[in-house]
Amino acid sequence: MATKEEIVKSVPQTGFFGHPKGLFSLFFTEFWERFSYYGMKAILIYFMYDTVQNGGLGLDKATAASIMAIYGSLVYMSGIIGGWIADRILGTRRTIFWGGILIILGHLSLAIPGGLTFLFASMILIILGTGLLKPNVSSVVGDMYAEDDTRRDAGFNIFYMGINAGAFISPLIVGAVQKEYNYHVGFSIAAIGMAIGLFMYTHKQKQKLGLAGLEPKNPLNIQERNSILKKFIAAVIIVAVLVVIAAMSGMLSIGSVVNFFTVIGLLAPIAVFIWMFTSKKTKKEEKSHLLAYIPLFITSTMFWVIQEQGSTILAAYIDTRTDLTMGSFKIPAAWFQSLNPLFIITMAPIFAWIWVRMGKRQPSTPIKFAFSLLFAGVSFLIMIIPAITSGGKELISPWWIVLSFFLVVVGELLMSPVGLSATTKLAPAAFAAQTMSLWFLTSTAAQALNAQFAKLFAKITEVQYFGYLGGASVLLFLVMLILSPWISKKMGNIR
Ligand code: GLU
Ligand code: ASP
Repeated sequence: MATKEEIVKSVPQTGFFGHPKGLFSLFFTEFWERFSYYGMKAILIYFMYDTVQNGGLGLDKATAASIMAIYGSLVYMSGIIGGWIADRILGTRRTIFWGGILIILGHLSLAIPGGLTFLFASMILIILGTGLLKPNVSSVVGDMYAEDDTRRDAGFNIFYMGINAGAFISPLIVGAVQKEYNYHVGFSIAAIGMAIGLFMYTHKQKQKLGLAGLEPKNPLNIQERNSILKKFIAAVIIVAVLVVIAAMSGMLSIGSVVNFFTVIGLLAPIAVFIWMFTSKKTKKEEKSHLLAYIPLFITSTMFWVIQEQGSTILAAYIDTRTDLTMGSFKIPAAWFQSLNPLFIITMAPIFAWIWVRMGKRQPSTPIKFAFSLLFAGVSFLIMIIPAITSGGKELISPWWIVLSFFLVVVGELLMSPVGLSATTKLAPAAFAAQTMSLWFLTSTAAQALNAQFAKLFAKITEVQYFGYLGGASVLLFLVMLILSPWISKKMGNIR
């Protein structure tokens, strides 16, 4: 098996803004993958609750928002499977390729007007495909640089810009196409995007990526393979039997599936923590790091609870409660989904500059995490003002949404770019291959909670809803501020 040095040597080390040539391929693979994901997501909730006459599925809004949330939860949970397959069976590069294929098929399923069956088929394909692709693309980025390469962080920052550039452009295009034609033409744009991404990925791959991500790092031996195959077949049979029993006893409904996956989405991170904490491979000092990571994990979960509602609860709110007319033009509601990535792209360099200027005086990771919750909380609390002044009935100005999204992004920039590196540093070394999945589990847990909050939104007033969740976030901010010295101590010399 190739060593780290051999892999780094096999990758042309310049050719893309002073970065390895392969960064060009991976940047655009992820750009187009996120283009397809966020483009689809920008119109999906509208497709679900729009009337059948308008080409939608006619679901009620709370159900649509719950499905969106559980879908998002599973999209990030499946990274566990994707990471494992890359690590033990296929190698990262091949896993990414198959992920891309599944994602294209997933978007194509929605391009066909086929009702709920095609919606669910598409979701399953995209959940699996994204799990195979997304965490693995990031890990090949890491593979291209030597451990001590000073360009590494900058490489990841460029990559992060690719994510958000894709997320910025697609809602504009998909939203406009959906308005001009229909939902299915919109979804086919997402499929085309992923197809371009897959082309960019495979084109001259050998020259650009060398040996990076080619072989599984920890391949299964024959015995392991046989025993896992047996367990897998047994699990499939058990799940199939349970589904049949649930269907026959009338328990299989959208609601019960949503509730089931809410529980799974919350149990998954707990199980991973217990597994890491009790593992013999985890050293004493690493246990202390893991304890420090728990409050950071909870903080980031609370943050994503609010951030992710931008494309579910707030997306529905934009459509039904804001005044989108500008003269004779009606702004497509989907366009608002471009605001978050637009703010990210424009403000990320400012934040990077501030941290460089502050150098060692910059706030510690726990403090940055804490403040992300303050901004997220205030982004919801300010929504109480239009809720009151409009009496919950009159249409509100879309500028409230712009302001709310802006505040979320300030919080996002305090947490998201440092989150993965904090996870990498705090997870026990024996679990290095799982750290990417561990970080994504914060988004999994958040959206599992959102699946339940979506039902709450339908039951209480807007003032109560924004007040409770915004208030909870601010409260957690205060708790985190108090805890931060303890967390820093437990983190040892890691900042
Ligand atoms: N918005 C970023 C992305 O799509 C981060 C997602 C997350 O960590 O939940 O890559
Ligand atoms: N800011 C998100 C991410 O970094 C994108 C989005 O929510 O549109 O990809």
